[in-house]
Amino acid sequence: MQKSIETILGDTEGVAYAFPVYRFEGSDADAPAAYIQAALHAGELPGVVAVDALMPRLRQAEAEGRIRGRLTVVPAANPVGRAQYHFGEIQGRFHLGTRTNFNRNFPLLEGPDPALAERPGGTVDQRLKQRLLALSVGHDIVLDLHCDDEGVVYLYVPSALWPAMQDCAAAMGVAAVILWDGESGASFDEASLYPWLQVAPEAARLDRKVVTTVEYRGLLDVDRHTAAADGDGLYRVLVARGVIADETVPAAGPFAGLVAPIENIDVVTAPRAGAILFDVVPGDRIAAGDRIATIVHASGEENGTTDVFAPQSGYVLTRVNRRWTYAGDDLVKLVGDAPSATARQGALEA
Ligand SMILES: [Zn+2]
Repeated sequence: MQKSIETILGDTEGVAYAFPVYRFEGSDADAPAAYIQAALHAGELPGVVAVDALMPRLRQAEAEGRIRGRLTVVPAANPVGRAQYHFGEIQGRFHLGTRTNFNRNFPLLEGPDPALAERPGGTVDQRLKQRLLALSVGHDIVLDLHCDDEGVVYLYVPSALWPAMQDCAAAMGVAAVILWDGESGASFDEASLYPWLQVAPEAARLDRKVVTTVEYRGLLDVDRHTAAADGDGLYRVLVARGVIADETVPAAGPFAGLVAPIENIDVVTAPRAGAILFDVVPGDRIAAGDRIATIVHASGEENGTTDVFAPQSGYVLTRVNRRWTYAGDDLVKLVGDAPSATARQGALEA
């Protein structure tokens, strides 16, 4: 394993950001190459601790000569967002200087060539995105580890790679897979797949590509047991796809979880500002008209509360982790059994 330090110059003189990259050489040039990154949204730590659980297994595989494909690991991908610590809270989702989501506006490359990613000029968040894309492009397997507010484990998967990626979903043991198509604001996963769609199918070999945003439950689901289980899941994906040889890992069966297009997601919002009393938790199945939450907007008054109901039957994927809301704020993501009447385009919160 080789460790290197990537440096990103800041937007003022005297400021620079650094993050480590770990590379494992593969023994077989024809084996798939894999890239794993965590905490692009800097405060989302379940992936960081999953990678920490995974790394000893990678070092062991290397020592035993079992790493076949090239492997690149970036355990904490966003030193810029990590440094945005204000009033006791990390602001890791948006770059404060440009108000841009760290997981949007990645360069869309005309081919899978790292040299195409780095461009002159731009602000520090753009330089970071260019560097991360340059590090990742060319790998067959790209796993971008995120989390939601509160949620089940689920994947965003490009439709072009489904159902071929069923084995990965099964290996990771996720509860749900959300399929997306088209544009998502140049999120990292879109920018990871895009270059392969610009080259001839024989060169792209989409049948062996894996591109996914992994949503590892909620922000507070950072604990020893879960990290170990998620590290195991990542390891199983690497074995299933031939990056690592390990005969002790059984092949994952067919994926038995929920699969739905992103158009089916109803993002249920709050009609009023106030305190949220939830009736549902992630993982619940609910029927159309079931109460999802009550908003207490005028505490103590008659008619001081407003109920929020499910617009259709479906599966509760996530809910927000605070208990106050403004009018119009998101409350839950409900994977409906049918397309949402108010479906949003592109990646939702990833
Ligand atoms: Zn995220």
